[in-house]
Amino acid sequence: MRLRHKPWAKEEMEKYPSIVIQNPQEHKNKWNNIFNNDQPLFVEVGTGKGQFLTGMGEQHPNINFIGIEKYDSVLISAMERVRDTEQPNVKFLNEDVENLLDFFEEGEIDRLFINFTDPWPKNRHAKRRLTHENFLSLYKHVLKPEGEIHFKTDNQGLFEYSLHSMSTYGMAFKDVSLDLHKSSVEGNVMTEYEEKFSKKGMRIYRLEAHFNN
Ligand code: SAM
Repeated sequence: MRLRHKPWAKEEMEKYPSIVIQNPQEHKNKWNNIFNNDQPLFVEVGTGKGQFLTGMGEQHPNINFIGIEKYDSVLISAMERVRDTEQPNVKFLNEDVENLLDFFEEGEIDRLFINFTDPWPKNRHAKRRLTHENFLSLYKHVLKPEGEIHFKTDNQGLFEYSLHSMSTYGMAFKDVSLDLHKSSVEGNVMTEYEEKFSKKGMRIYRLEAHFNN
């Protein structure tokens, strides 16, 4: 992703601690208090500029959403969307997904989204892919036993890798689409990348999977 450095982003986000949650470690196992309700918790990793999560938040007001993004220059756009639309059920963490277990208790998350994550095509960078087994083990820990992972990408290589990585890890697939926009999946909310790539005529791959416990 092309990154325009915004040196003011971090400070600006700190002005809205009810949207970009500071010190998320302190809220582990207590996210219901932050949202002030007992709704299910859906988390997106690598959330980017927040188009997907704010769209989902609007479509599903009875679900709480948290997006995790490590770059403040990107996340600032997500914060601004929620600030302007005043969505109470969408929050963000300016953090690295690597530290997921610091923020969520075992079985605290109902569903996890991975959208258009960086493919890292070189083998030596495989561990950085958000569908690498090291990340899957983090997701397994924080997801409820019946919790699902929903994954979308335009990148065929990453999709094939992820199918392999997940099945090797013992995950089961509930739904797989090799051309999402021509499939019968309902209520799809497009991410920034999805919009960009599908406008160029590229097909979108999608899967729903869960861990076999
Ligand atoms: N999900 C958005 C979309 O579909 O439009 C953004 C896609 S962009 C290619 C991937 C995003 O994931 C980037 O903003 C990147 O900073 C973020 N990301 C990648 N690895 C991450 C990690 N380990 N922790 C947090 N964010 C990460």
